Amino acid sequence: MGGGEYLEMHLYRIQQSYSRYIQVTLVKEYEWCKTIPWIIANTAVEPPLTPSMQDGKEVHNRIELAEQIADSRKLAKYTVEAVLVSRRYRVVGLIDILSIDPPMVIDIKQTNKKPPKSHIAQLETYTLLAWTNNIPVERAEIVNHEKKTIYKLEVTDYVLERAKKRIQKTWRIIQQPDPPLVQQPVEKCSYCRYKTRCPNYL
Ligand code: SF4
Repeated sequence: MGGGEYLEMHLYRIQQSYSRYIQVTLVKEYEWCKTIPWIIANTAVEPPLTPSMQDGKEVHNRIELAEQIADSRKLAKYTVEAVLVSRRYRVVGLIDILSIDPPMVIDIKQTNKKPPKSHIAQLETYTLLAWTNNIPVERAEIVNHEKKTIYKLEVTDYVLERAKKRIQKTWRIIQQPDPPLVQQPVEKCSYCRYKTRCPNYL
């Protein structure tokens, strides 16, 4: 496991230990399937590692890639793998590239495809985190491993409001004593990492 994944796991443990913060990735999972944040927050088992988490080399390459992307965008002042916390919304996130000058957020994904709604939700939540930390980002992007921009987001009040509401809904789900009743398409459940502990898996 590499640096970024240790941080992710560290953030996850903070979340589990204190139950005060949720990670942005939980909000992303909420958008993909509402049962997942409930499982993560209500079972004492850590989330299964993704293939990229199991490959420390890939993580090292990822940091290098983030720096190359920042350079290619000529960002004057930025942080790679920036940890931001919002006490107001009780959310914490690890942002691939947080640029201060110009103010923007970049999330890196290993795909050439159009991002799913869950990845857009993740990006929107990062922008809210930036705003609550006095970094008024006006745009955000999802950039892929080939350094191509595959999604651009203009950060408006509407986007920030939607991000707030999504965080609040994620909190509500994880605080319920029972899992949400969710029915997903069979194909979707068949490749879900959480299916073995999912109460809704048929
Ligand atoms: S198995 Fe299906 S219902 Fe359960 S968490 Fe995964 S996608 Fe959601």
